[in-house]
This record gives sequence, C-alpha cells and structure tokens, in this order.
Amino acid sequence: MDDPLYGCVEAGGTKFVLGIARGPNELIATERIPTTTPDETLGRMRTWFAAHDIAAFGIASFGPVVLDHADPRWGRIVDTPKPGWNGANIAGALADFGVPIGFDTDVNGAAIAEARWGAGQGADSLVYITVGTGIGGGGVVGGRPIHGARHPEMGHVRVSRHPDDLVFPGICPFHGDCAEGLANGPAIIARWGASLSELPGDHPAHAIVAYYLAQMVQNVVAIMSPYIVVLGGGVMGTPGLLDHVVRAYHVMAGGYFGEPADLIRPPGLGERSGLLGALALAMDAATAGSRRPR
Ligand code: ZN
Repeated sequence: MDDPLYGCVEAGGTKFVLGIARGPNELIATERIPTTTPDETLGRMRTWFAAHDIAAFGIASFGPVVLDHADPRWGRIVDTPKPGWNGANIAGALADFGVPIGFDTDVNGAAIAEARWGAGQGADSLVYITVGTGIGGGGVVGGRPIHGARHPEMGHVRVSRHPDDLVFPGICPFHGDCAEGLANGPAIIARWGASLSELPGDHPAHAIVAYYLAQMVQNVVAIMSPYIVVLGGGVMGTPGLLDHVVRAYHVMAGGYFGEPADLIRPPGLGERSGLLGALALAMDAATAGSRRPR
C-alpha cells in the first residue's frame, strides 16, 4: 500500500506555497498562489487540495499565530499589520476535509524539518533563523517545537548598536532598532539604497549586518544552548555573509558556551525547508490525531 498523501501549506505574506507529498523525498505536486485577501487565497488553497485524498494537513504560517489548542482562536493569524489578515482562519479553511491538521509558525516548521531531514539530523535541539523581509526564529527541543504564551519572536531581540551605525533609527514599527529593525532586507535598503548582495563586498554594510546577526545567535545560544543554529532566508543568500556572521559570533562569544565549532550552518534543505516544515507538521498531526480548528 502507498504511504498516505500529506497536504503541505507554506503560508507566507506574499505567497502561499502548496504541496502534496508522501514523504520528504516524494513531493508529488506543488503550486504557488499569491497572498491577496484571505477569502481569495484560502479559497484557492481549498480548491487545489480538493481533488486529492489528503490524510493530514500541515500549515507552516507567517504570523503572529495562535498555537494554544485551548484558545478558540487556534489556527488563526492575529495582530498582523498585513491588511485584511488579522484573524484570518487558515487552519479553519481546511477543516471541511475532516482530517488532522498540524499548525505552527513557518520558522518552527523549518526548524523541525532541518532537525529531522536537513542540517541538524540527529540533533536534539536546533534553532532556525530566517533573515529576509523579516527576521524570525523557531526552535526544536527534544524533537518538539517551542511554544509559549504565543511563540518565539527571535527577530525582535535587542542588540547593541554597531559603532558605525548609530544614526539609523531602525524600521521595526514596535521596537525601532531591534534586530529585525536593523538587519532585515528593508532595513538594509533603507540605509544603503540597495540589497546586501548588490553592495560591493568591501562595503561596511556587510560587517554591520553580520554584527547584528551574530548578536542574535549569541542571545539564542545563551538562552537555549542549541547544538545547531541554521541561518536561512533571502538576505543570508548574500555571498560571504554566513562566514562573516560565524567569524563575528566566535569573536563575540569568546569561547564561553561550549557550543560545537560548526554551530552555525546554512539550511540543509535549501529553499525546501519551508514546505518540508509543513510536511513534518502534517506527518506529526497524522500520528498525534491533532485537534480540529473551531
Ligand atoms: Zn521589533
């Protein structure tokens, strides 16, 4: 008998990536739909999956999202500045299928996938940080994603200012110069008028961004002591940036934390870590018989 079919949803602020898979190496079909209004995007998502006999869904979503099963808003996006999406019921849109649904943040999903199939196979604890339009981080400890009152928001940690970057106020609408406000893609463009990969290799922006990302890694290591920190996302595609962060981190951290020398790694799953994160959530939901959205 064939393995069951899993429905995978990587729900992003600009696009939804959908997939149908039997396992991490058996992705049968994929589809991309733009994130417009919840009615339109979630409607197209439902229609695309309707032709298939799905055993369980996994949704790895942009946020903030509600992950607490005791909260009637479980499966929804909340408090988002994205117009129209506040309260959008992503998991609820798939409730009619009557199958288990796993729902988590995009970065928690990616952390599970990287720990299971990617850069951290066999690691008990792993943190996945994406650096792109936003900065977010998710984590796995003992094979389980980290939740809390809401979920980790690692991009919003406080960082010390680089001595050559004291004027720029930062672009986070909530905190100004938190890590995301200083080092995400739009913050880079706001200061220097170009993306990091478009700036020359000797431009000071590289050292400044690496300085902030290295502090993020140190904060995470100090609090969680993970075996592996995976750095992914569009900004991390800048040639040389990962090495720059690694060097800055080891200078900053001073050899204190007992972490492995290859603590900081690129994603083992490349651009698939998001969709495979959704797959991992679907497979876990099928096993656990996850509760249904209300
Ligand atoms: Zn912030």
